[in-house]
This record gives sequence, structure tokens and C-alpha cells, in this order.
Amino acid sequence: MPEPTAPVSAARRPARVPAAPDTHAIVIGASMAGLLAARVLCDHFARVTLVERDALPDGVQARKGVPQGRHLHVLHTKGEEILNGWFPGLSADLVASGATRLDIPGDLLWFHLGGYNVRFQSGLTTLAMSRPLLETHVYRRVLRLPNLVCRPRHEAITLATNPDRSRVTGVIVRRVPADGCTELLEADLVVDASGRGSRSPAWLELLGYRRPTESTVTIGFGYTTRLYRQDAASLPQAKAIFIQPTPPQQKRVGALFPIEEGRWIVTLGGYRDHHAPADEQGFLAHARALCAPDLHRVLERAEPVSDFIVHGFPSNLRRHYERMRDFPERYLVVGDAMCSFNPIYAQGMTVSAWEAEALDGMLRQRATTPAKAATRAYFTAAARMIDKSWRIAAGEDFRYAGVAGSKALGTDIINWYVGRVHKATHRDPAISAAFIKVLMSLEAPTSLFKPGTALTVLKGARA
Ligand SMILES: Cc1cc2nc3c(=O)[nH]c(=O)nc-3n(C[C@H](O)[C@H](O)[C@H](O)COP(=O)(O)OP(=O)(O)OC[C@H]3O[C@@H](n4cnc5c(N)ncnc54)[C@H](O)[C@@H]3O)c2cc1C
Repeated sequence: MPEPTAPVSAARRPARVPAAPDTHAIVIGASMAGLLAARVLCDHFARVTLVERDALPDGVQARKGVPQGRHLHVLHTKGEEILNGWFPGLSADLVASGATRLDIPGDLLWFHLGGYNVRFQSGLTTLAMSRPLLETHVYRRVLRLPNLVCRPRHEAITLATNPDRSRVTGVIVRRVPADGCTELLEADLVVDASGRGSRSPAWLELLGYRRPTESTVTIGFGYTTRLYRQDAASLPQAKAIFIQPTPPQQKRVGALFPIEEGRWIVTLGGYRDHHAPADEQGFLAHARALCAPDLHRVLERAEPVSDFIVHGFPSNLRRHYERMRDFPERYLVVGDAMCSFNPIYAQGMTVSAWEAEALDGMLRQRATTPAKAATRAYFTAAARMIDKSWRIAAGEDFRYAGVAGSKALGTDIINWYVGRVHKATHRDPAISAAFIKVLMSLEAPTSLFKPGTALTVLKGARA
């Protein structure tokens, strides 16, 4: 199979906005959302401080504060495009460090909704690598920004405000491990990027605000991951495998992707009571029970190079900051702290990248917009982006028996139609390309309803 040659074009950033003198912004959390927010803020503030609870490793290695980093992470094509805009040359550096460029329908053996996706070279690509490799490259580039200071081993414990609590004025931090001392870091803007476990709802409540309302879709998903030595001979027809379950009763997922240093990352998982066991026999049995045999065949011969790692993911969780009538000025929330999605749809990092763009857009208009209105504009823009991804992740999850939660109006009809799209991708390259563009966040889900696409899909459904 020819090498995919279509690197994602880097979106060009508009000219840098001069930073306002003597201004300071703080970001809580130095994972993907925090790093991206810090990159944006460095264009708008004289100083930016990144506060991170973990010690940040020198090399490429997973860390305690990002436990999901040990599991398969796929970066959407759109996310890669945005990242290259902020960090020119990032993709080339990642490939030089061992990332593999995959043409999605060409290199991926992908079984979904009862059939294999049609195989063809499309130019629609993704980069396959470990999550720590990606994060390390982004982190190193952020650290090189001249107006950024990183405070690893520091934990944000609460917010500081003005006397009437209408404005956040900083963050109180303590060292990790705690030594009994705390420190006030004053700032003109504080951004919470501390992930799903964010304490923003509790901090706001403490200040006399309401907590944000939440939407949840309970899926009880479990991931079990192990690394293996790559052996191209046992997978001659593809570079990666992704086997999705056939709903409603089948609930097991399996994926194998190449990562740097000649390894495969294999993640097996499932909804509710269909988690993959973390032992040799149980792991293989889970692979054998997937809807297609390919991954099991490879695993039977593969040489493991790591232990099993397990991660539980209880629910899609969305915090509706955009609906809050009263919210302190100069405080924002990004990334998983605002919304965390079922990981099998691989949306989190791309949504964080979109939010960073929304933050940039808001800050570019800051001079002409009062602080309260700017905050509202940011949360509204972020919610619009989250809506698109939430419809895919939370909506699709309702296909599976036992999934419960906030179901948007029209979900069943949309799922019926998208189910027909899935079937069409088994035979039709044009529909497959249209679907992949939505999956990779290059097009809005509504693009699947364009008349030409809909006609082909519905004709196929009738046949
Ligand atoms: C199993 C799994 C697989 C996933 N796979 C994918 C995928 O394939 N593709 C994709 O795009 N996304 C995926 N995601 C989601 C992705 O990992 C996140 O969306 C992404 O990391 C952005 O999260 P974040 O930066 O907001 O938060 P996190 O990654 O959770 O990071 C939060 C950071 O804040 C720090 N922190 C927390 N509290 C404090 C505090 N009080 N003070 C200072 N620091 C603090 C933590 O140490 C950590 O560094 C997956 C998630 C899971 C669970």
C-alpha cells in the first residue's frame, strides 16, 4: 500500500496581537487544554503562568495527572490542523519522532455497524502516536514561549476575588507535596483547564454563585490497554484496526494503532458489563468476542511489551457554563473541565483546540467588549462547538442497551439516518469520505444531510 502523502495543511494564524503591558494570566492545568490556552494567552498578556500539580517529566512519559494518557489517543484531522496553526511544523516533528501518518480508509481496517468500511486511499489522514509523545512536543513548544512561566508541583486550591466577589483576581496555590504554606498569584484572567475533576463548580458555589447545570449520559465504559511489538507480517493488509460493536446488545470495542518505537497500542473496552479483563486469557477472550476477528488474530501472535492498564469512564459529562446568568468576570473554563466525551469518539483534544480558538477570538475583541459580555461570548462560542461533538458522542451512545441520561430531542431519528450512512460507508467511497470528514471534525454533522449524500444513503437503505 502506498504511503499516505497528504500532510494536513497548517491553518495560518493572523498576525500576533501586541500583549497589553503589565498584564498577567494564569492557567490551571498543563495538559492539552491548558497548554493550548497558555499558547493563546501568550499572544494577549505580558505574562502567563501555567500552574500544574504534577512534576512534568523530561522525557516522553505518561504522568499521574493525566492517567488517560496511557490509553489510545487519536487526534482528529481538524485538531491536527489547529495545532499546526499554533505550533508550525508540529506534525513534521511528530513524524520525525516516530508518529505514523495513516490514511483513514486506506490504512485502517475499520468494522462498524455490521460491516467493514470500504478501503481506498483518500488523503484524509490522522497521525498515530502515543498521547505522551504529542503532549511532550506541545509542552516543549509552550515552554519556549518567552513570556510563559511554568509552576509544576503547584496545586490551585481556590480562587481569589475582589471584595464583592464579582471578579476573579487570582488563584491561591500550594506546593505538592503540601508544606503548609500557600501563595496568592494575582492575575487579570484565570483559566481553569484542570480536567474532568475540575473544582470550578465547588469554587463558584463557595463564592456565592450557582453551580453550572450538568448533562450526563451514563455509559459505564471501561478501557484496558497493553502495548505490543509491531509485527507488520501479521497485519499485512492494514496499519491499524478499529472494531466497533454492533448495537444494541453487542458492546465490545477493540483498537490497535501503531505508536512510536515500533510498538502497537491495543485498547480493548466496552460498555457497562463488557469491560476487557486485565489478564492474558481474559484480554484474548475479549478480543475473540469482538464483532470482527482481525484483532484477535493479530493478538494471538503478538509479543506484549507492557503490563495491562485499566481506566474507567462513567459518563459523558457536560457542564453548562453558557447557561449561567451570573458568573464572575475574568474567569473561564476550558477542556474536559467543561465537557468530557466518551473517549471512543476521540473528540476531547480537538474540542480543546476549538476552545483555544474561541478564547483567541474573544481576546482579540476584548478592547471593545466589556469583561462580562466577553465571558458570555466565549462560553456561547465554546458551547456551539461542544454541541456538534456532543451530538455525535452522546447521541451515538444511545444506540446501546443500558445507556441512560440527557437525550436530546431527535436523537433516535438522527441515529436511524446515521445508521444508514454507516451502512453506505461499507460500499461507497464518496459516502465514506463524507462520514470521515464529520468524524475528523472537518465538516459539521449536518453535511451528511446534504441532498446528494442523503439521496445515495436513502437509496442504499431501500435497496
Ligand atoms: C481513556 C481516555 C481516552 C481518550 N482518548 C482520546 C482520544 O483518542 N482523542 C482525544 O482527542 N481525546 C481523548 N480523550 C480525552 C483527552 O484525554 C482530553 O480531552 C484532553 O486531555 C484534554 O483534557 P484537559 O487538558 O482538559 O484535562 P486533563 O487531560 O484531564 O488534564 C488536567 C490537568 O490539570 C492538572 N490539574 C488538575 N487539578 C489541578 C489543580 N487543582 N491545580 C493544578 N493542576 C491541576 C492535572 O494534573 C492535569 O495535568 C480520552 C480520554 C480518556 C479518559
